[in-house]
This record gives sequence, C-alpha cells and structure tokens, in this order.
Amino acid sequence: MDTDLDKKTAEQNAPLSYSAQIDKFLNGSLKSSDIISLGEIPQWLKAEGAQGNELIMTQETLQNCVNPSSVKMKGHTTGHDVPIDIMKQLPELIANPVLVMRGSHPQTIVVITDAIGKDGNNIIIPISLNSKKGFKPVCKVTSAYSKRNLANYITSSLEHKTAILIEREKADTMLRSIECQSFKENTFIDFYLSIPQLPKIVNTQNQNSEKNKEEIPLTNEELMKALADQLGKNNDLVGQLLDKISTLEKKVDETTQQLQSVTEKQEMFTTHFNQIYNAKSMEETLGIMSDLGKSDMEVESCDVYSYDALEDKLFTVDDNGERIYTDISENTPISSALLKNEVFIDNNYTGGEIGDGRDSDKVKNVAVIPIEAKTGEVIGVVVAKNKDTEFNKDDVDKFNLENGKIGSAFRMGLENKALKQAAITDKLTHLHNRQGAQEHLKNVVLPQIHEGKSVSTIMIDIDKFKSFNDTYGHDAGDKVLQTVAEALKTQTRSSDGVFRWGGEEMVVIANMNANEAYELAERLRKTIENTPCDIGDGKTVQVTASMGVAQIVTEHPQQLNTNNIMEYFETKPLKRADERLYEAKENGRNQVVAPPAIMKAQQQQQERRKSSVIGTIKSVKDEEQSRPKQPKEQNRNQPKKSNHDLS
Ligand code: GH3
Ligand code: MG
Ligand code: MG
Repeated sequence: MDTDLDKKTAEQNAPLSYSAQIDKFLNGSLKSSDIISLGEIPQWLKAEGAQGNELIMTQETLQNCVNPSSVKMKGHTTGHDVPIDIMKQLPELIANPVLVMRGSHPQTIVVITDAIGKDGNNIIIPISLNSKKGFKPVCKVTSAYSKRNLANYITSSLEHKTAILIEREKADTMLRSIECQSFKENTFIDFYLSIPQLPKIVNTQNQNSEKNKEEIPLTNEELMKALADQLGKNNDLVGQLLDKISTLEKKVDETTQQLQSVTEKQEMFTTHFNQIYNAKSMEETLGIMSDLGKSDMEVESCDVYSYDALEDKLFTVDDNGERIYTDISENTPISSALLKNEVFIDNNYTGGEIGDGRDSDKVKNVAVIPIEAKTGEVIGVVVAKNKDTEFNKDDVDKFNLENGKIGSAFRMGLENKALKQAAITDKLTHLHNRQGAQEHLKNVVLPQIHEGKSVSTIMIDIDKFKSFNDTYGHDAGDKVLQTVAEALKTQTRSSDGVFRWGGEEMVVIANMNANEAYELAERLRKTIENTPCDIGDGKTVQVTASMGVAQIVTEHPQQLNTNNIMEYFETKPLKRADERLYEAKENGRNQVVAPPAIMKAQQQQQERRKSSVIGTIKSVKDEEQSRPKQPKEQNRNQPKKSNHDLS
C-alpha cells in the first residue's frame, strides 16, 4: 500500500517545484498523504553521511513549523511560527548553511541558517540523514524553528565539539550577532577540509543559472587536479614501497648467500675436523691442517708447525708429506710465537727473518700465529703467507682456543698427535718404542702385506754391552745407544720403521725382501762399527752389533688384521730374526745372519772369491792382494727366490 502511495506521490510531485508544492499546501490542494520534496540534497549532506539523494519534508512538519498551535505531534508540544516566506526558502537555506552541528540523535544534523525568525534569532533546521520513503533512503527535514537561547545552544554544542564550520566568515558574523563567545580555533572542523574534494555548494534550486554553469566545470577540474595530486602521491608511495621491497629482497639474497657460505664452511670444517681426528700420523694431520688453514684464511700458503719437544724443534710437512724440521732461531716471529705466545702480522712484508728458513722472495704479507694447548703452552705455530686482502684480527681469532673452531681443531690435532707421539717415542733414543712398532705394523706394514709387497725385519743387539757399561759407565752406554739409534735412522728410509725394542735391542722393519734386508743389515752393521761415539772427556769409543734378518712370509696374508698383526710379528718373523741374531752372537758377533738360502749363497760367493783370490795370488802383485773386499752389489731386480728359502 505504502509503496503504491509513494509512487503516486512521486508521480504527482516530480514535476512540481518546491515552491509550487508549498503553494498547493497553502491552498489546501495537497493530499494529506503527499510528501513534500525539497529536491536533490546538497553535496555536503551526502559527504556528511546522508542516505539517498532526496530531501523531503512531511506536511505535518511544514504545518507545525508555520502554525504554532495547529498540530499536536508526538513528543513536540506546539508549532514554531516560522514565517512562510522563510519556509519557502528552505532548500537554499539548507544548501548554504551558516553552521552545521551534529544533532543529539544519531544520524541527525542541525543546520543553522541565515534566515532570522520572529524573535530575531537564526532559524534552525534539524535534518535526519537516514529516513526512508518507501524503500528509498532519503533525508528528512524534521523541523524548522528559531531558538530563543541559541547562543547557549551553540556554545554547549561547540564545547562538545559537535559543530562543523561551514563558512568561517558567515559563522563568525552570526556568532558575534548572538553575542556568542568567540570560538576557539580547534573547536571547529573546517567543513571543506574535513570533507576532502567536496565541490563547492551550489544552490540546487538555481542549477540553471549562468553562475552555477560556470562553477561546475571548474569544480570538476579541481576535483581532477586533487585526484591527480592524490594519484601522484600514491604513485610516489608505491615507488617508495617498491624500492623498499627491492632493498629487502637484496638483503634476503645477501643473507641467503651468507648462510650458504657459512654452511659450506661448516661442512668443510666438519670434514676437516673428522680428517684431523682420524689422521693416522702427525704428517697427515699437518697436511690436513695446512689445507684447512689455506682455504679458511684464503691464503696462498699455510704451514702448520708442530713443536717436537724431544728434538726441541718445530716441524712441518712438505707437499709430499715428509717432515721438514726447523731450528728455532731466536728473535724471529716463529720463535716469539712459540716461546712468548706472540702473534706476528706484516701486511707489507719487505724482508726480514720469519724463522721458517723458507724462501721469502715472493712473500707479500705474512701472519705467524701460535696454537695453544689446553694447558696454555704453545704446541704449534701457523705461518700463513700471501693473503689477497690483509691479515687482520679475524684471522688470529680463528685460532683462538676459546672461540675459534679452527683453533680447537688444530689444538686437538696437534695435542692428540703430540701426546700419541710421546707415548710411542723412546725418550733416550727418540726412536719409536714397541707401541710405535705396533702402530707402524697396523698402519704401514699390514696394508703392504695385503698388497703382496715384501716386508722384512732386522733384529739388532749391541755386542758385549754389559761389559761396555761396566767399563765406561751407564751414561756412556746411553750415549752409545743414541749414536747407534742415529746411525740406524740415517741409514734407513723415512718410510722404514726403526724401533727400540728394549734395552740395547733395536728392530728395523722395511718394505723389502730378505736379500735387500740382508744388504741393509750389513750396511747398518758396518756403519755402527765405523761410527765413533763421543762419550765425553774427549774420549771416543766404537761398538759393534749383531743382527738377525727375516722376511715376513705368510700363506694367508688376508687373515692378518690390526688385532693380530703384532702378535704374529713377534711370534713369527721377529722370533726367527731373534734366533738368527743369537746365531750371529754364537758365530762370534759383529755379523749378520739372514735366512739360510742367503747365507748359503753368501758363503758360496765368499768361497768363490777366496779360491779366485788364491788362484790370482800366484800371478798378481802383492798390492792387489791387499785390496779391500767389496761385497758384490745385489741386483734388486733379480728374480725372487722362494719366500720359504728366504724367510
Ligand atoms: P751380548 O753381546 O751377548 O748381547 O752381550 P751383552 O752384554 O750385550 O748382553 P745383553 O744383551 O744380555 O746385555 C744387555 C745389557 O744392556 C744390559 C744392560 O746393562 C744394558 N742396557 C740395557 N738397557 C740400557 C740402557 O738404557 N742404557 C745403558 N747404558 N745400558 C743398557
Ligand atoms: Mg741384549
Ligand atoms: Mg747385547
């Protein structure tokens, strides 16, 4: 019903102007159900939250506004007595308000207009912003009246900050006229500022006037400009955001790369750490450390020196893994590192002793860094050379025992190996002891046996050593032991094992067959015999030694393993060598006894030589007779005789 009625009203009212509707109301020709339309709502009302586009007023409201006692409305006592002329101007008055304030009810505003009522005060028009006509949202003028205590009303509204300043000058004038206290700056919200891009208010009733025609396109331009400005600002913001995003992306990339390199370094470190831990020899350990130091410090060379307390020397390894000993010459960076725990860095190296005895022609920069044991003493020295950039504190910190991972790996490597080294080294002769022999058998000899290589052993015992001690004293005996040990070391290869088996018995284990071992033993015997030993007080003595040779021969080499190799060695080849040593002693000492086949061949050779000498005696001169006998060089490549014969 309502909807049909509304449609009808709209049809009837649509063509009529507001003033025509008022005229019809005055002459009583408006239907009682007709609603008066004030036309399209002004722009600022929309911005303020108005629903719909149409401003309306009921006949009752109009009636109540103009006639003080004509209508009794619910909640309102009497009409307000607003002159009809003023009521006729309502659309313009609302479109150009002096002041707008939020009403006491939600979604209502109160417009204070230019129009003056009968009591001399400005007419107030409350408007509801969310009314409905049928289903259509509209704004509704709910009254129009002049308020006697307008000044108080405005003052209290302003205090509650519910006012919106529409036009400053107009509002100012009005406030002065009602003797209202001058408002504070921050009491008002400037209407145009509070609602950005609001077009200037135009009189909806006079939209066809020339003035307004001019104003509308201008307003649009302003709008476009404001819009463009805003867009520009937004674009700037977007640009800044994109910049920030790309900076962040770069940072993420950098961090990822850093993380990768840290991970790689960590992996590399773990690998090296394990290698250091599992290294079988000090040589291997030093080689791994050198590689680790090189890659971690990014240097051309990194020599890691281990301190050999027995020799009081530093040693490192060359590219072949062979030890290179370095004397600790005083007042060099290396000796300062070792003795005083001092770091040395020269980033502009132009010469001067480093202390490693190496060629320094191509050295651009150098760092010498001590490595401490847990107990604080220096057990090693790192000598790094030729870093692309400069050596700095970070490089030194790497070897710091507390924080430096390399430091702890190096410390562990050197310390463990040094301790192990000490455990397997005889303190008097610096030869490896039985324990060392066991390691050598496991790590060096066992693989050789498994590969089918020949390995022989020589058991050496100094002759009449008891009586030597008795004659010259125990200290002299010690010196002899050291001299003999040194002679054995110098006459063998570094890959051969030379051990102090106990007392004055020494054992050589070498990668060779029994023939070669016999030759080696003979050479050792002669060296001992011919090496004078300084026993102090300007006295020198000479000793002799007897030796037994045996080759390791087993029909089941694969049955030998790290657990049984020592026992096998002692009970088989070494036992045979010991028996032959006994034989050598029995035969008169200072001689070598090898496997029977070799001894037999030797004997035959000697006999041949003897008979040939006897034969020659008859025909050659005496001096030829006295030429020293040289044992014929054994041909190393000669076909191997049966192992059994030679063992
Ligand atoms: P042989 O020619 O039969 O071997 O006679 P020998 O006197 O050498 O006899 P044996 O091998 O049984 O004697 C070993 C002696 O070596 C006993 C001991 O006085 C001496 N000896 C063992 N160890 C040491 C040591 O560390 N220092 C010294 N000075 N002498 C030692
Ligand atoms: Mg002995
Ligand atoms: Mg002896």
